[in-house]
Amino acid sequence: MNEAWLMTERQEFLHFIDGAYGPSASGKTFPVVAPATGEIYAAAHEGGEAEVNAAVSAARSALNGAWGALSIADRTDLVISVADEINARFDDFLEAEIIDTGKPKSLASHIDIPRGAANFKMFADTIRTISGEAFETATPDGAGAINYSVRKPRGVIAVICPWNFPLLLMTWKVGPALACGNTVVVKPSEETPATATLLGEVMNKVGVPKGVYNVVHGYGPGSAGEFLTSHPGVDGITFTGETRTGEAIMKAAGTGVRPVSLELGGKNSAIVFADANLDRAIEGTMRSVFANCGQVCLGTERVYVERPVFDEFAARLKTGAEALKVGGPIEEGVSLGPLISAEHLDKVLSYYELAEQEGAQVLTGGGRLALGCATKNGFFVEPTIWTGLTDESRVMREEIFGPCCALAPFDDEEEVIARANNTYYGLAASVWTDNLSRAHRVARRLEVGVCWLNSWFLRDLRTAFGGAKASGVGREGGVHSLEFYTELENICVKL
Ligand code: NAD
Repeated sequence: MNEAWLMTERQEFLHFIDGAYGPSASGKTFPVVAPATGEIYAAAHEGGEAEVNAAVSAARSALNGAWGALSIADRTDLVISVADEINARFDDFLEAEIIDTGKPKSLASHIDIPRGAANFKMFADTIRTISGEAFETATPDGAGAINYSVRKPRGVIAVICPWNFPLLLMTWKVGPALACGNTVVVKPSEETPATATLLGEVMNKVGVPKGVYNVVHGYGPGSAGEFLTSHPGVDGITFTGETRTGEAIMKAAGTGVRPVSLELGGKNSAIVFADANLDRAIEGTMRSVFANCGQVCLGTERVYVERPVFDEFAARLKTGAEALKVGGPIEEGVSLGPLISAEHLDKVLSYYELAEQEGAQVLTGGGRLALGCATKNGFFVEPTIWTGLTDESRVMREEIFGPCCALAPFDDEEEVIARANNTYYGLAASVWTDNLSRAHRVARRLEVGVCWLNSWFLRDLRTAFGGAKASGVGREGGVHSLEFYTELENICVKL
């Protein structure tokens, strides 16, 4: 592993500001824990106002200086070379991500790191081919006018990230921000500081001007997150995380009327009709419930199954869950890793208890998992399936973010649409049916940002991504990202 991005053997994550790594002025650090072992493996510097001020000021200087002066072609060339360099250092990013998250290497090497690189490439390609609008406008003197639009960078963007796909979700924002000509200050999750730090090396290696990409570590309230989102030098805030945090960030953004892009929580449903291809529905639901140990915003926590196939579906999902191998990131054949932290472990286990108090039958799982050897103190839980919960129970209404789901039978289409929509959230849904008309009919009536028909997490990065209701504000992806990362100016020319 390349250790140039670490300050000492003991692993210390430094801030990356104005093209250089450095500690906090206060000297304050916080521990970083490897979830697969439960052990502290590093310390990260905690940023305060001094570091946030320095990062925002470096970002402003780059915008008004070397970065702002680049042509679109030169800028997007650099953004593409960031993607190439991530791929060239694939193993370093992979190692950093799996220590921080504990997720299986097979998952991180197929999703997290390749998508982290692809996010730069795709948005650079989008920006290169985008065209503006132009109108010929009639005027009373008959000479007319021409209106045309130009897209300009929004400015200094604050990027606040969660821990579940640290590199992937951070670059989903940094990629379009840089391709559009902005500069960024990133506040990675306090749980997962590694890959955002490593990306600083990549920026320097490929020649991205200093100050374009900055990273300040720390927590949210009273720490780097809050200082950054309330900083008057920030022109826009893009955030992925919990809905509650999104509300706090939206309030902070109100001062100075700064735009926000918010990708928030969910309580997603899957709907399985009796005519569905059950092999595919089981395979898809296994992934949507258990992938990344259930720590996927798009994951399914409520599964509505049409009554004639309910028992068969439940039995097969149980068999699938019991066949999952839970373990550390580099163990052979592991498909389920740990939860991210001791705190999140407590939260998920509290829902496991609550489910039983609310009258659930535990089809499988329901507890903590004690593994052996190095992982004996890791934050592992059993994949868990419940039946018998009402739609009003807290377990059916609140986001748990663990490897668990509740199964409930339904009898007709109208009923299941109403039940699926009976939630505060509106992120994603998946519908399993071989009836083509019904599939389209149900999809458009679900109050969500994305609905998958006979699939799950099949992503095309050009499509609009975001949540309805309390699951978000705005859409990112492809040309939709331009709405947030650029300011559209209309220029009117009288002929
Ligand atoms: P979180 O909201 O606890 O933290 C996210 C980030 O916000 C962290 O970097 C944190 O330090 C920071 N933060 C916290 N309070 C802040 C404040 N007051 N001001 C500024 N920054 C603050 O979320 P998490 O636990 O890291 O991630 C899990 C959540 O993210 C789940 O709810 C999940 O559904 C959601 N999520 C949504 C999407 C999506 O695309 N919609 C994707 C992934 C995760």
